[in-house]
Amino acid sequence: MIKQLDQDIKYLKGVGPVRAEVLRKELGIVSFRDLLYYYPYKYVDRSRIYYICEINGSMPYVQLKGQILSFETVGAGRKTRLIAHFADRTGVVDLVWFQGVKYAQKNYDCRTTYIVFGRPSVFNGRIQIAHPDIDKVKDDAAPMDEIVFDGGMMVPYNLTSPSDSPYGKFVPSYNTTEKMKNCGLNSDGMAKLAEKMLELLKEPLEETLPAYLIARNHLISHDEAVRNIHFPESAQMLERAQTRLKFEELFYVQVNILRYARDRIRKFRGIMFSRVGDAFNTFYHQHLPFPLTGAQKRVIKEIREDMRSGRQMNRLLQGDVGSGKTLVALLCSLIAVDNGYQTCIMAPTEILAEQHLETIRSMLRGMDLRVELLTGMVKGKRREALLADLVTGQIHILIGTHAVIEDNVLFSHLGFVIIDEQHRFGVAQRAKLWQKNAVPPHVLVMTATPIPRTLAMTLYGDLDVSVIDELPPGRKPVQTVHQFDNRRDNLNAFILQQLKKGRQIYIVYPLIEESEKIDLKNLEDGYEQVCRDFSQYKVSKVHGRLKPAEKDAEMQRFASGETQILVATTVIEVGVNVPNASVMVIENAERFGLSQLHQLRGRVGRGAEQSYCVLVTKFKLSDESRKRIKIMVDSSDGFEIAEMDLKLRGPGDLEGTQQSGMAFDLKIANIARDGQLLMKAREEAQLVIDSDEDETNPANEIIWRRLRELRKTNINWGAIS
Ligand code: ADP
Ligand code: MG
Repeated sequence: MIKQLDQDIKYLKGVGPVRAEVLRKELGIVSFRDLLYYYPYKYVDRSRIYYICEINGSMPYVQLKGQILSFETVGAGRKTRLIAHFADRTGVVDLVWFQGVKYAQKNYDCRTTYIVFGRPSVFNGRIQIAHPDIDKVKDDAAPMDEIVFDGGMMVPYNLTSPSDSPYGKFVPSYNTTEKMKNCGLNSDGMAKLAEKMLELLKEPLEETLPAYLIARNHLISHDEAVRNIHFPESAQMLERAQTRLKFEELFYVQVNILRYARDRIRKFRGIMFSRVGDAFNTFYHQHLPFPLTGAQKRVIKEIREDMRSGRQMNRLLQGDVGSGKTLVALLCSLIAVDNGYQTCIMAPTEILAEQHLETIRSMLRGMDLRVELLTGMVKGKRREALLADLVTGQIHILIGTHAVIEDNVLFSHLGFVIIDEQHRFGVAQRAKLWQKNAVPPHVLVMTATPIPRTLAMTLYGDLDVSVIDELPPGRKPVQTVHQFDNRRDNLNAFILQQLKKGRQIYIVYPLIEESEKIDLKNLEDGYEQVCRDFSQYKVSKVHGRLKPAEKDAEMQRFASGETQILVATTVIEVGVNVPNASVMVIENAERFGLSQLHQLRGRVGRGAEQSYCVLVTKFKLSDESRKRIKIMVDSSDGFEIAEMDLKLRGPGDLEGTQQSGMAFDLKIANIARDGQLLMKAREEAQLVIDSDEDETNPANEIIWRRLRELRKTNINWGAIS
């Protein structure tokens, strides 16, 4: 027998074949179940009626009950507007129509009592409600025409508690599209369908969480929650319904991730790096350029533990810009060398790969180890020779860009993979590197874009996390200032003063792909202006349109000190290291994401000198931009900034969420706002995974069944294993 919830939506009364097709095309709704889980995005509080004397211009939607005293038309022609003076026992407001004037005049009159619903605002000192929803009151007990209203604000006289609303509840709003509205499926239309369907579903909806979890977390039942999410009985029930459904959603995402991580551990034995030998020890005692920070030591220990556990390591290494991740990567590669294995380091750009090569080669000077670079630029005979040496095991460390994941790049014994700047690589690319050895290599993912803990749990929930939370000693924090662009003289004087001290300057312009032309023009104009303003100095210009070789040559000129100012787009964001550069000027700073600003700022402050970051914006800023700039000025902590960014922008916009491959289609929970609930859900999920390893505990049967269902219906979920 077909379950009621699986029935085709066209059989719901009020739908039929035409609307069913629209629902399918526009929202992917094909069954009763789909409609049931299509939640409202907001609710309108129609649970009470306000007295006019209570309302002011800053309230959200309100509901009033009263009569129209008189109509008035103002203006002429297309600018005509209709005003209805609407009163209850306590005051008057103006109802205003800019459109549909004729309709309003025809349909409303001065004898009927109405319920008026809308958003109050203040115009010319009077409270008005534009384009209100108006309904007739049926069998009104107290006719309004007994009320005498004498203008001015009356003291409420003889007021009893606010009367009950005929709606009596919260009215749901559903997102709909133009095409849906054209066939009567606006928000109200959808609400009617939902109501009809819920009436049909006589049996309570099947429970989706085990009883012990419901009790322990003080949740309401699935059935109650879903019914109340569409039609809340009260504000309190709405909140409980939301909590229950968010918890459930987060819980299953976490169970899925944790189960996946556990199965991977079972499935993949890891390569056992049992020893630390000559390579590591020689380097550590004779070549280490500076003592390791406490955080670096701790992280190396964590990685070391993983490498000898017999399980495959999958670890995320987070560390702010300049925290010294490269050195950690190198030391761990030497452990691989000591166990007879090769290391592959993958960087997102050519410049970064080359810089890694240079750094690592110079640190390893005097040791008999071979480090090579493989990028798209390495071609022909050189490439062939390199690939041959790689497959015969003569290369110890291979550094490269995407080029290293190509199928014809074969290793002799690949034991360790390091991926720098994770957010530019997807899970699929990670997986490709795994396959380059019979036993999958250990994987270390390094990122300088700090990810808030809650987001990391969902995004990289399958990875263990190490954090370098300490910068090498002697760094002076970068001083950050906000400068409006109408005070350019000030800024130029400051830059000149720094140049005279022998320092170098970055000036960065935003790059937004959709309008590459405009951006390039900004950059060109900026460049010309800079050349004029600082004519006695040499200026470099770097942007994404340059060929890699040209770009590198120009960067090199700046790095060597031949040019003193670098005008660039964000291509310099990752990698470049010029210790003598002490000023980072960011033009149109309001157009950058916070994490990006933080990355850019990390380009200075690498030498011994006091460094500065100047955020230049136009004078007129939105509140949000103002807040964001203030965060940058106040904080130099990448994690704090990432948290703020998440709160301000929501997870959808954060780098990494789209390409993560772990994409999570959260329907109702919001990672930015529901952090605490997420922690709770994670804890419970962990307990279930740990305590019910072979998934046979009858109390959890409901969980495993539900998980199977979800994996069938949610494409993204299936993709992670
Ligand atoms: P990131 O984590 O951003 O990749 P890097 O590895 O590039 O940082 O290191 C930034 C700078 O700090 C480099 O110049 C590096 O030589 C230096 N550095 C790294 N570790 C230490 C340390 N323990 N003490 C002093 N300087 C260090
Ligand atoms: Mg780095």
